[in-house]
Amino acid sequence: MEEKKKVVALLSGGLDSRLAVKMMQKQGFEVEAVAIKTPFCDFDCGRGCGFEIRETADNLGVKLKTVYLGDEYIEMLKHPKHGFGSGMNPCIDCRAMMFEAGKKHMQEIGAEFIISGEVLGQRPMSQHAPALKTIEKESSLEGKIVRPLSGALLPATDPELKGLIKRDDLGRIRGRSRKEQLKMAKEFGIENPPNAGGGCLLTDPKFSIRAKDLFKHVKNPTINDIELLKIGRHYRFDEKTKLVVGRNKDENAVIKSLALNDDILFEAKDYVGPVALLRGNDLQNYRELSAAITLRYSDAPKENAALVAINKERTNSEISVIPINDSAYLQYRI
Ligand code: SF4
Repeated sequence: MEEKKKVVALLSGGLDSRLAVKMMQKQGFEVEAVAIKTPFCDFDCGRGCGFEIRETADNLGVKLKTVYLGDEYIEMLKHPKHGFGSGMNPCIDCRAMMFEAGKKHMQEIGAEFIISGEVLGQRPMSQHAPALKTIEKESSLEGKIVRPLSGALLPATDPELKGLIKRDDLGRIRGRSRKEQLKMAKEFGIENPPNAGGGCLLTDPKFSIRAKDLFKHVKNPTINDIELLKIGRHYRFDEKTKLVVGRNKDENAVIKSLALNDDILFEAKDYVGPVALLRGNDLQNYRELSAAITLRYSDAPKENAALVAINKERTNSEISVIPINDSAYLQYRI
């Protein structure tokens, strides 16, 4: 029996990439999937992208390789060659990195080409025709990326020129409507098709403001800095120093787990309230202000002084402060 030709799919867990896989399987290809994780899209955020990726791959009957783009992704985010979208989303550079990771797998398993669920004109930054071309160029995959859902509207790729795929078997989907995809989902027996993914955290306007603030003030942000961005209320005191205040029990626990040796943690001593983390340079200068903000979000009475416990490098101390009033600290809110 002739061996099936192999194809690598960038699998996001959304409907479009599932359909792309199904289309290639229908045409007799053996599909293997690569799913990309970044610090801003961790498969569990529930925003649609990459959600339940393992289950998705199993349902499609494809092998799955997960690739984590961590430090190199943060490095790219400092100066993305093709800029940002409406938030801090560097979609073109991001997609190029994802395809590069897919290319590595393609070479490892001897696949013919790579597919994705991209749809022409669906996303403003990365899915118009010139952007699709730029992504191919940046990932050195010119002619090797097939977008089965819109393939019949795009220039012929190498596999089409070589006769491995036919134009008639490619889709003509364009734009943001999901009507056609939902129809195809039915035909392919995909039950409960996922809602359209909203993009990663970097497309979120509030998160983007925090992320921009971080990249403006910290030369080399770490994964720890980014994990902190995902939780709490944030206050910037100066170029180097900021305070993060937990909003609930879970966030308080995460803040404690992210505290580094040089950070200072604050917590109201005799009242239920948040954990706050102070990070930066001249931290002693901001002890009192941080304690007063921490107390402001606790159950402590607003008019009286109360104790705030301070923890730094496993040394504990206390400070007595009056909860700060809103006009005195909201200016620092990021
Ligand atoms: S939305 Fe986020 S994960 Fe998706 S391409 Fe843009 S930057 Fe990358």
